[in-house]
Amino acid sequence: MINGICGVALRGTQALPVEVEVETTGGLFSMTVVGLPDTAVKEARERVRASLRRIGLMLRGRIAINLAPADLPKEGALLDLPMAVGLANGAGIIDCGEPSLFMGELALDGRVRWVRGAVPAAVLARELGVRIFVPKENEHEVALVAGVRAYGVETLLDVVEHLHGGKTLPQISGGSFGEEDECIETDMSDIKGQFAAKRALEIAAAGHHNLLLTGSPGSGKTLLARALRGILPPLSDEEMMEVLLIRSTAGLSFEPGRTRPFRTAHHTASSVAICGGGASMRPGEISLANRGVLFLDEFPEFSRDVLESLRQPLEDGTITVSRAAGSVTYPARVLLVTACNPCPCGYSGDPSEPCKCSPSSIEKYQRKLSGPILDRIDLHVAVPRLTPEELMSLSGESGESSTEIRKRVRSARKTQQDRWREVGFQCNAELPERVLRKRLNIDPDVKLFLAETVERLRLSGRGFSRVLRVSRTIADLEGSERVAVHHVAESLSYREGGAFGRGVGLGWRG
Ligand SMILES: [Zn+2]
Repeated sequence: MINGICGVALRGTQALPVEVEVETTGGLFSMTVVGLPDTAVKEARERVRASLRRIGLMLRGRIAINLAPADLPKEGALLDLPMAVGLANGAGIIDCGEPSLFMGELALDGRVRWVRGAVPAAVLARELGVRIFVPKENEHEVALVAGVRAYGVETLLDVVEHLHGGKTLPQISGGSFGEEDECIETDMSDIKGQFAAKRALEIAAAGHHNLLLTGSPGSGKTLLARALRGILPPLSDEEMMEVLLIRSTAGLSFEPGRTRPFRTAHHTASSVAICGGGASMRPGEISLANRGVLFLDEFPEFSRDVLESLRQPLEDGTITVSRAAGSVTYPARVLLVTACNPCPCGYSGDPSEPCKCSPSSIEKYQRKLSGPILDRIDLHVAVPRLTPEELMSLSGESGESSTEIRKRVRSARKTQQDRWREVGFQCNAELPERVLRKRLNIDPDVKLFLAETVERLRLSGRGFSRVLRVSRTIADLEGSERVAVHHVAESLSYREGGAFGRGVGLGWRG
């Protein structure tokens, strides 16, 4: 429970209450703020004082504002409005009455500006059972938080008049996540050929398997990655809320529609940009892609730091960012799609362009993608560049649309959710080894086939588990309760080495 006038501080996607206490004593004017970093205090003080002047309140005497708890890291701008309201309350202009949360940055003319974190703040208000005042510009996202008593304010005067009883602000309402939308930017039927890659995308979408696409420049890897978004099932209400909380925390506006997030990062991006952090500990691309797709092109060019830091979130579905000020954990459940060239020049195995790389440089390039991260990538697919003749012959064929593929994906997901609910998993890619081996439901002849395969291909324990997970998904797409030999055989074609091995004559290490 909170008392009186409160603001909020953000800690990850969570908002915490900050109590604003004001004390005024006689003497010359001075204003001290305790509980904020020095630089923020100075700026906040000027904004609060100027805005109060606009509503006719001239501050007098020695004023002390305490923002409690003192040890909680705070952001000055979020606390402008509660400080101004606290001062107006202290001066007797208004009587706040019931405990309330306020958030907003003040302009010198008294306007209340948009802030990040309005959604976590609204969730906090709901939990505490108190009303909240937010900037009018944040109104549309706060409206999506059901069951909260919230008011949108344009100016400090709005708040003062509302609390004084002069005018009543309307309560924010009427937000909705909307219906399922059929907005597909890149439709599968727009991509010519590439049947193997499209099939791999379908499997990835159905079982939430991470994917590596290998192909020469211009083979359409980026287009394929983008098309994945359109075949994924729509976000549920709970997932929408997660996405909304992260976007609000990052200071990004909410995109309407239930299409899953698609984020991409350049290989020069820092680990802070991808994993989150920095001074204000904001979420990174991997959290902005939560419940959707994170696409990393030219994967071997990413720094080792970044590749290393991806391991833990791919394992746990969350990422913890630590700084001196403490640590926060963000959701980071993504479908990772990576892409790379088959060699440094990009044309190894290409039908028309010769490769200029030496064997040793190719080996070095492939080794950059070594073990640990590849262990998390279930599907490896070659994306060959089509020759002009192939493109011509395919020009009349459009293939299946994303909507049709999505139907199969949704039904396979439903099967998995029903099957794994009791063990606490959502999809095949999440299954740990122990569950996998005990509950896979494979035919006896498959066991024999697998035993031979492990021997012949010298599969590692992890590699073997990957083959099993993908086999399970392929069987689910077919609507088959049992995993049969042809499911495993197809799964084996997506194992590591598949991408580089095909037509290129190179083995994959790792
Ligand atoms: Zn090359």
